[in-house]
Amino acid sequence: MSKKYVDIETLKYILYDVHKLENLLSRERFQEHDLESLDLFIDSVKEFSDRELHPYFKEMDETPAYYKDGTVLVHKQVQKVMHQSGEMGIIAACFNYEDGGLQIPFTVLQAAMYIMDAANNNLPSYAGLTGGAAELIIEFGNKELNKIYVPNMLSGTWGGTMCLTEPQAGSSLSDIVTKATPTAAGFYKISGQKIFISGGDHQFAENIVHLVLARIEGAPKGTKGISLFIVPKNRPKEDETLEYNDVMTIADFQKMGQRGYCTTHLGFGDSDDCRGWLVGEEHKGLNQMFLMMNGARIAVGRGAAGIAMAAYRASLQYANERPQGRKLSADGKKNPTEKQSLIIEHPDVRRMLLLQKSIVEGSLSLVLLASKYHDILTTATSQEEKEKYNLLLEMIIPIVKTFPSEAGAEAVDNGLQVLGGYGFCTDFSLQQYYRDIRVSALYEGTTGIQSQDLLGRKVTLQNGKALELLSAEILKTIIAASTDQDLKAYGTILEDTLKLSQKVLNHLMPFAIKGNYERYLADANLFMEYMSIVVLGWLWLEMGVDAKHELSNTERKYSEIFYESKIHTMKFYFKYEVPKTNSLAASLMSDEVVTIKKDKEYIL
Ligand SMILES: Cc1cc2nc3c(=O)[nH]c(=O)nc-3n(C[C@H](O)[C@H](O)[C@H](O)COP(=O)(O)OP(=O)(O)OC[C@H]3O[C@@H](n4cnc5c(N)ncnc54)[C@H](O)[C@@H]3O)c2cc1C
Repeated sequence: MSKKYVDIETLKYILYDVHKLENLLSRERFQEHDLESLDLFIDSVKEFSDRELHPYFKEMDETPAYYKDGTVLVHKQVQKVMHQSGEMGIIAACFNYEDGGLQIPFTVLQAAMYIMDAANNNLPSYAGLTGGAAELIIEFGNKELNKIYVPNMLSGTWGGTMCLTEPQAGSSLSDIVTKATPTAAGFYKISGQKIFISGGDHQFAENIVHLVLARIEGAPKGTKGISLFIVPKNRPKEDETLEYNDVMTIADFQKMGQRGYCTTHLGFGDSDDCRGWLVGEEHKGLNQMFLMMNGARIAVGRGAAGIAMAAYRASLQYANERPQGRKLSADGKKNPTEKQSLIIEHPDVRRMLLLQKSIVEGSLSLVLLASKYHDILTTATSQEEKEKYNLLLEMIIPIVKTFPSEAGAEAVDNGLQVLGGYGFCTDFSLQQYYRDIRVSALYEGTTGIQSQDLLGRKVTLQNGKALELLSAEILKTIIAASTDQDLKAYGTILEDTLKLSQKVLNHLMPFAIKGNYERYLADANLFMEYMSIVVLGWLWLEMGVDAKHELSNTERKYSEIFYESKIHTMKFYFKYEVPKTNSLAASLMSDEVVTIKKDKEYIL
């Protein structure tokens, strides 16, 4: 099976050169690491992905997880990859040494897991979610809970999940009804149902540690009455054996994509014997959960970016091998006696490939940028730095979750189109990527919800300070581009686009000020699209500036064509994608209101 599912050169270029990983390593937390050792970590994850993930990509789709006799049966690689993710330190990578971790920068872990996502997106999240659940226990749980659960989770012996969603509470978590009843023994009795729980149960897990949002009896209604609990499938006893904790697996959802990654329906306390242990403070559960949501949202964007990368690589390979038709000659005619051209020579196919490349590599840069902000924030040495990077991260989070998911799906769609009819056939992987990536815009907050978060919360944060800070970062790149004759014009376009976004906000803000939030947020999705293009334009310009600089350097790391291809792709993004902001701005500033329901229903 081809190992070309990921462009490692570009990954390393963006990680080391564009986002300058080295700068992070001077921070105390990362002092024991150097570029060489981190590079080895990335290479070992690539080798692991080649060997244990990618070969099973198709097989896991064809033999999906399924429910049988009270449990979920998954592919055997789930067990192997979980255990090896523990052994290789992938699950524990970012944790403190004292918690059994390696204190590797989050940015490096994201780069490594991106490779796993591209190799076989059915597998990495079993380990990823387990790490996320362990993080919550370490951050908010007491020492005893930490001792009981965390080591087994970081070693990959036990799985972990996030149980938020209920049948009546998806986007709106304020409607959660799962109940927690205090007992004199200190634990709570848990009862209720959770749906769509990723990695919720399977035959290989000795235990699964569910992090469950529930409402303590008598708690206030809404999000302020939600608490967080550890609810293991099997509860550890004093003698360290396990006893069933009345967590029933009711079903496994059969899905259009990510079919090897189980998605379960769980019932808690059917026999009134399900015990949960409070994590952190009562009624603070949602806030606590959200503290680690940033990491989870970056991970969803990363997963989508990885899938879109693999799809791009597959369609690029196809376009380089498939002869079809002939190039148009100067007089607009084709000569049938001539050899057929490879489809990569047709401008329309090239457009589809460049669109993919610009989305895929731009998304990767976005994921690593958000990860870098996360690392700086968690290792900040001054209050000022902490505030700055907290705001920058807050601003970028809905975008890093959404852009790779939405544009990534468009990229995969174009990849499928490159294959013509074969793209629709199961012998080729494009249709699987097309199905797999679709969920990224749904889970961990739909695009609609992320867009409301961006426009409703992030843009207005501290009177617009987060947006101001982001704009200042963008302006730095525009200034750097302004000293280069070729890049200057792109910087000017980006600056105009940024100014137009302010005009859009000036148009919308009065609705919010007057309390008409429905009108203010009605087109939040369009605003998300607008801002995503601005951010991607910025990241491409940044790559253009770096590539241009390297081209003038005689001791460059990569080939001339490598850097030239980055500049070329930047030009593509500015020609085909950035101008879309004009039509988005027109819709956003239009006074015509057609989506807000008034007295009559026109959607028939
Ligand atoms: C494969 C898969 C894995 C998942 N894994 C997990 C997991 O591990 N743990 C977990 O807890 N959950 C998980 N989920 C659940 C996921 O987070 C929810 O599906 C998601 O939050 C949306 O909720 P919903 O499906 O109930 O849709 P709804 O909330 O009913 O939304 C339906 C539509 O209405 C829109 N909408 C809803 N409310 C509003 C509003 N106020 N304003 C504007 N538009 C709105 C949404 O954007 C969407 O388009 C998973 C889901 C899937 C499909």
